[in-house]
Amino acid sequence: MSRPQQITVLGATGSIGLSTLDVIARHPERYQVFALSGYSRLAELLALCVRHSPQFVVVPEVEPARRLQDDLRAAGLSTRVLVGEEGLCRIASDPAVDAVMAAIVGAAGLRPTLAAVEAGKKILLANKEALVMSGALFMQAVRKSGSVLLPIDSEHNAIFQCMPGNFAQGLEAVGVRRILLTASGGPFRQTPMAELAHVSPAQACAHPNWSMGRKISVDSASMMNKGLELIEACWLFDARPSQVEVVIHPQSVIHSLVDYVDGSVLAQLGNPDMRTPIANALAWPERIDSGVAPLDLFAVARLDFEAPDEDRFPCLRLARQAAEAGNSAPAMLNAANEVAVAAFLDERVRYPEIASIIEEVLNLEPVVPVDDLDAVFTADAKARLLAEQWLSRHGR
Ligand code: NDP
Ligand code: MG
Repeated sequence: MSRPQQITVLGATGSIGLSTLDVIARHPERYQVFALSGYSRLAELLALCVRHSPQFVVVPEVEPARRLQDDLRAAGLSTRVLVGEEGLCRIASDPAVDAVMAAIVGAAGLRPTLAAVEAGKKILLANKEALVMSGALFMQAVRKSGSVLLPIDSEHNAIFQCMPGNFAQGLEAVGVRRILLTASGGPFRQTPMAELAHVSPAQACAHPNWSMGRKISVDSASMMNKGLELIEACWLFDARPSQVEVVIHPQSVIHSLVDYVDGSVLAQLGNPDMRTPIANALAWPERIDSGVAPLDLFAVARLDFEAPDEDRFPCLRLARQAAEAGNSAPAMLNAANEVAVAAFLDERVRYPEIASIIEEVLNLEPVVPVDDLDAVFTADAKARLLAEQWLSRHGR
């Protein structure tokens, strides 16, 4: 067998990062960790270095980098510590790297992920915010470099598995009528509307089926996650927003479906465990063991479906509007959401105010074309400023 593939894991200390390292550790003959990054959980990052002996590790600042370098030496490791966004771009694009797991949360992941794309790496894309912010530029960069882009988001990985190999020819050309994007509905699917003003971050983060980072857990509760995924699906599969229908499926066993013109509907099923899409993308087009238990259909027993209620989930409506508007709208939506969710997790705003903040930002700022990365970050910064202004105006 050929040498193991060299893998960089951006966001190694997070939920997706740890699941990725779990799958990699099951296949040492296939994969070797080239580099890892962390942000605040540096003790965990050190433990991951001891376990996986990467060549490089990246942290955000100089002082913690020095301490980590000393700890690594004391542990007998030759791992080199790099710092900041420059370090992230370096480990994403190093000539020795075969594949990059993009699992930093939020806009912070955009530049390193694009660096991996521009270097022509195989991209395992979990960081949906990067694609939402810069969709047209991102996909243009993928085409230019010939990078292989594989979705990690469970829904998009499911859609990818249900698509024919030649889907890049266009959905009409390959006979796809629409994409059915499933959503669990999150922890507040049935909570009385009047109670939503009083839900806590802990309640929002208690997802019924998935264990995830805090930001995406809140996004799942508000269904902004599904809104971001709608935009993500449009870019990955060259679909119009009207070709993507959101279906609430509370069991999270069907991870999404593709509806063909002949009436066939293909679905991908499995236990809700991110190691399945991670293993699928790592090994694609082959299949490897992910450590996930086989699906027990008798234990699942039933599969339910319902239409989403946009009064309950205004973030889904706002995301669909941003998807239709295109240009700078998705970057603004994403940035306003990041500020609003962080404020909610800090208990500075109530849950329903997340949608109010985003709606105000989108109403205040006109949609403009985004022809380069500077324009994307300008839209991102404007939206963050407007969201911060909402917070200070309301005394938060
Ligand atoms: P986590 O919050 O668990 O992990 C985020 C990772 O990013 C951590 O390694 C964190 O470091 C790092 N990080 C945070 N902020 C920064 C920053 N400013 N600069 C550099 N690194 C940073 O999130 P998840 O793993 O849940 O999600 C990661 C991405 O994957 C998100 O985009 C999410 O939408 C997507 N995704 C996640 C799924 C899931 O099941 N978890 C499913 C589908 C998509 P540290 O922890 O050290 O602070
Ligand atoms: Mg998802």
